[in-house]
Amino acid sequence: MFDLIIRRARLSDGSLSDIAVREDKIAAVGSVAGDARREWDLAGRVWLSAGWIDSHVHCYPKSPIYHDEADRIGVATGVTTVIDAGSTGADQVDDFYQLTRGCDTRVLALLNIARSGIETQNELADMSRIDGAAVQAALRRLPQFIVGLKARISSSVVESNGIRPLERAKTLQQENGGLPLMVHIGNAPPDLDQIAGLLGRGDIITHCYNGKPNRILTPAGELRASVQQALARGVRLDVGHGSASFSFAVAQAAIARGILPHTISSDIYCRNRLHGPVRSLAHVMSKFLNIGMTLPQVIDCVTAHAADGLRLQGRGRLQPGMDADLTLFDLRSEPCLFTDADGETLNGERQLVPLAAVVGGQIFFTEQGEHSDDFCL
Ligand SMILES: [Zn+2]
Repeated sequence: MFDLIIRRARLSDGSLSDIAVREDKIAAVGSVAGDARREWDLAGRVWLSAGWIDSHVHCYPKSPIYHDEADRIGVATGVTTVIDAGSTGADQVDDFYQLTRGCDTRVLALLNIARSGIETQNELADMSRIDGAAVQAALRRLPQFIVGLKARISSSVVESNGIRPLERAKTLQQENGGLPLMVHIGNAPPDLDQIAGLLGRGDIITHCYNGKPNRILTPAGELRASVQQALARGVRLDVGHGSASFSFAVAQAAIARGILPHTISSDIYCRNRLHGPVRSLAHVMSKFLNIGMTLPQVIDCVTAHAADGLRLQGRGRLQPGMDADLTLFDLRSEPCLFTDADGETLNGERQLVPLAAVVGGQIFFTEQGEHSDDFCL
């Protein structure tokens, strides 16, 4: 006896599958025989994937600059796990942890190497804020919650410190078991060649398709050699769209050269959710569907790849034994106008519309899901 069987769900490769859930885990996938307390036949009309993971968000409600509510950017938009990327450092991360225990969305954190987190925009302008003992103690207190480190390495954040905060971040990473390090890139200094040169396996470059002069492409539109070498060493590319860090031109040129993102993330917080250009993870994913990525590629970027990049055990794949985290969605063919972070627009024709998030077997409908005729419970 299962708790839930979802029948005839359409997977990202177009095939149909049943998914059975027992307690809070996926119990069977494929053609499932047996009964359940609750059955749900999607008749191939609704798409389903492992639960979407947004690798870069901001949802510490008390952050003075980038705040939001986890469930608004989570289950309300089909996202089952969000990873806050450095809103908090060692000084606030316990408060953040406590504040998000009641959320329906799974909330995890990348710890800002500055103990102040993003309390100001220039958290790495003062090297004394990088406190190795405080980082280590926070990791020891919250080993399940903190999944890695975050370092924002652009001129407005590091000011005159240049590459030094990143050198410290690499040392902290090594002192703490080599956990994932997400590095935000933006305006120089430091130059991206200098940043990329320090990165290796386990490191993640976020804002990878930003349109600033210090971007991954050379003026001739080729991938910088330093980034190419970093990718060969196992460095991963994360989108981190945000308010100022995503350019259609850069993304299109990169994708045309086969430089795909490992993870698609939103860098969402209340302002760019409400006023654009981010809106939601689904909206960011839809942009990639319209600039040359396939549906399976886009879905992998928010499921298996996201789980791999942040080493989230038991998530990101539709397999027995995994957490029963699922996203149900619609793929609509309708004209849609998209805008990047530089104000450039793109006329698209395909749009992902999240209908429901299942977290540990518990179902949460989105607003569109509540009004959808395809759900007959
Ligand atoms: Zn961010």
